[in-house]
Amino acid sequence: MDAIVKNFPASKEKQVRPSQHEAEEAVRVLLRWAGDDPAREGLLDTPKRVAAAYRELFAGYEQSPEDVLGRTFEEVSGYDDIVLVRDIPFFSHCEHHMLPIIGKAHVAYLPNGRVLGLSKIARVVEIFGRRLQTQENLTAQIANAIEETLKPRGVAVMIEAEHLCMEMRGVLKQGSHTMTTTFTGEFKANAAEQARFFTLARNR
Ligand SMILES: [Zn+2]
Repeated sequence: MDAIVKNFPASKEKQVRPSQHEAEEAVRVLLRWAGDDPAREGLLDTPKRVAAAYRELFAGYEQSPEDVLGRTFEEVSGYDDIVLVRDIPFFSHCEHHMLPIIGKAHVAYLPNGRVLGLSKIARVVEIFGRRLQTQENLTAQIANAIEETLKPRGVAVMIEAEHLCMEMRGVLKQGSHTMTTTFTGEFKANAAEQARFFTLARNR
């Protein structure tokens, strides 16, 4: 069954999804590459499970943040101050090693007459998280999606994450955290707004 994968970010061209059989065969190759025997009992269903897990872990390719962010609310009783959702947990995978990135996102915006449902922000983090990522791109994509759909006075995104590719292999830096931030609009122009964002995001 060939389905067209929408929103594939790497290129504008539509990608044709490989068949279930091709995906399972690829897992068998990697099992042999790792040094194991795909024919042994414990591994017989593994290719099927891995293929299913990939559909879930990378479901973000088939989801559009614009759809999620499409509904905004204008009845805000004049509220125009910072809206911050902090400690949004996410799981992603690094695009270099396809190993997990585990972290938290803190996302804020300054409304311009319209607000989002709060759960929408977490959904956007999830959609971009369920794609192959770098932390820098993930941070920028979340900010851009909110900027473009809501057109607020400013967006601030901070992500803190552990990269298992750095912890399990390579430099073996266990427990290190990578921080990234992106600011737009008034958060970018005004150091006091940035400071307020950091204070609210970090105030445990
Ligand atoms: Zn990596």
